[in-house]
Amino acid sequence: MLRRPVFAANWKMNYGPTDARAFAAAFAARWTPRADRTVIVFPPALSLSTLAHALGGRTDIAIGVQNIWTEAKGAFTGESSAAMAHDAGARYALVGHSERRHVFGETDAQTAKKCLAAARGGLVPILCVGELLEQREAGATEAVVLRQLRAGLAGLAELAPDVMSAMAIAYEPVWAIGTGRTATPSDASAVHAAIRTALVERVTDAANDIPILYGGSVNAGNAASLLAAENVDGLLVGGASLDAESWAAICDT
Ligand code: PEP
Repeated sequence: MLRRPVFAANWKMNYGPTDARAFAAAFAARWTPRADRTVIVFPPALSLSTLAHALGGRTDIAIGVQNIWTEAKGAFTGESSAAMAHDAGARYALVGHSERRHVFGETDAQTAKKCLAAARGGLVPILCVGELLEQREAGATEAVVLRQLRAGLAGLAELAPDVMSAMAIAYEPVWAIGTGRTATPSDASAVHAAIRTALVERVTDAANDIPILYGGSVNAGNAASLLAAENVDGLLVGGASLDAESWAAICDT
């Protein structure tokens, strides 16, 4: 199966509603819809609704939420559920982003629950996996990435394979995020191949529909070589997605 490349912009904690509206105007003016790719923007939760309204007529630009809580509703001060994010316009959810794991202490068990919560709430989970520098240096990259992958997938185990395959994986080496260092295309390719093999074992043939994105200091200058690497089906971009022109150039890769 030919997977359409996926271009996902993670704004992290940047752009409140006013800036999100300005970005939407600039990006929509610059970006011409292309049927051969999927473009997703992940604003902060507070800007979801504004961005959805500002992009109202642009069904070619999807919106996602950067994080959700594991439960549907209740006494979880400060959190948002998948259904709430969906109501605000999100169709995708990042799960287990490196900053969630390493700044906020999110565990594999929580990513499992969040994958399921996203799917149940009508969102496509994008499960982020990636090793720390010391884990890479210790030769543990594949072990760490596959442990995180299997844990996240375990959360979806009760779903039918075709429902389970409505997800994406993002391989983001932690040492490459926001550092200006990227994995080489061949290193990314090797890890993506291991992820693909594990997906096929777990999800069977439907796993071939699951895109595997690379993330970590992607910019308009290196996007093409990373996207050309075997098994790289898309890009998850932080810093370089904050400028509408640079983001459009990446989406045009
Ligand atoms: C990210 O936030 O997922 C990311 C990859 O950030 P950056 O592109 O800035 O490294």
